Amino acid sequence: MTASDTRDSSGDHLAHARAAIRDIPDFPTPGIVFKDITPLLADPRAFHIVLDSMAERFIGEHIDAVVGVEARGFIFGGALAARLNASFVPARKPGKLPAACDRVTYTTEYSNAELEMHKGSIKEGARCLVVDDVLATGGTARAAAELVHRQGGYVMAYAFAIELGFLGGRERLLPVRVESVLHY
Ligand code: AMP
Repeated sequence: MTASDTRDSSGDHLAHARAAIRDIPDFPTPGIVFKDITPLLADPRAFHIVLDSMAERFIGEHIDAVVGVEARGFIFGGALAARLNASFVPARKPGKLPAACDRVTYTTEYSNAELEMHKGSIKEGARCLVVDDVLATGGTARAAAELVHRQGGYVMAYAFAIELGFLGGRERLLPVRVESVLHY
């Protein structure tokens, strides 16, 4: 059992957060079990538990920027950036950001997609944390990391509320550190 598994299974608090995640079968396509976080967001205690668990793993580490992936990565990433006293940088779907952007194309568990980041968002050598709600195949997180690298930043870790371990995303992100609160 890993340290993360211990955190996951110990104490009521993570059990409370886990109970607030709703499985929606066959969304958005047949065969996908969608992890719906809206009940967790609607439950202040559950949301706090997840944010505390994410933040405590990085307290005392120097993080310049939290990169949140549109759209659900904004919810956790914004709150985490505030707790870690770091900048928040959005990685957005194409056509949303108004100024000149870097762009990457990637694949997710159920789609092909693109992400953009405003040029000049990441300072040369900045220590960055890439944040999203769910780690599935890891394609999205890698794409966000690619944007960081293009701007001369360094991805010191990835952080997720939920990790779908059976999809092998962690292996695609290694050797970079991966921290997930709830494991499936
Ligand atoms: P991936 O790139 O395959 O790791 O997919 C991660 C991205 O897709 C994240 O932004 C998630 O919000 C979303 N995602 C993928 N699979 C699921 C799932 N089963 N439930 C909820 N969101 C998912």
